[in-house]
Amino acid sequence: MKDNKWSDYLWIVEITYLVLGFFNILFAWLGMIFFVTPLLISSIKGNKSYCNKYCGRGQLFATLGKQLSRNKPLPKFMRTSYFRYGFLTFFMIMFLNMVFTTYLVFAGTSNLSEALTILWTFKLPWAFANTIDVVPWVAQYAFGFYSVMMTSTIIGMTTMVLFKPRGFCVYCPMGTMTQGICKLKNKGAL
Ligand code: SF4
Repeated sequence: MKDNKWSDYLWIVEITYLVLGFFNILFAWLGMIFFVTPLLISSIKGNKSYCNKYCGRGQLFATLGKQLSRNKPLPKFMRTSYFRYGFLTFFMIMFLNMVFTTYLVFAGTSNLSEALTILWTFKLPWAFANTIDVVPWVAQYAFGFYSVMMTSTIIGMTTMVLFKPRGFCVYCPMGTMTQGICKLKNKGAL
């Protein structure tokens, strides 16, 4: 039987992160670790060890998927590079939009919005989790980043239920980025 390692339990870290956002939105900043670490690992090592070993989100989908997934193959179009790169482009545009919104609050042009934006559309009041006084742009970034994390979790969970447990990994923007970085690294371009 396979001995479990500490890295097999990173799905607990993922759940903890999502739960903490209900208590204080500033915990959302911790999500930057999930953003920067895979990019660093792929740039330095030229491999996808983050996805294979250390991604709590991927582990969470695999764990829940054992019970909840229909285990059906993803539709063909979702496995194409057009879809993967298209989704990455859309995701990055929305991410930059979130950063710009933070900038507007920093510049004093906009007021802090104490809400999550789920699936880039639905506003969910979240003022109850804004419990510590910080400069408004710091809170705004936290609301924006947590919205991104919740949105990708919802999309990933939906994909998990409808298709394979880790179906989201096929078109996950972070997976697509790290794959691209590994290709460049292994060609000697980085
Ligand atoms: S593809 Fe995305 S969700 Fe899947 S393991 Fe990699 S980073 Fe995690």
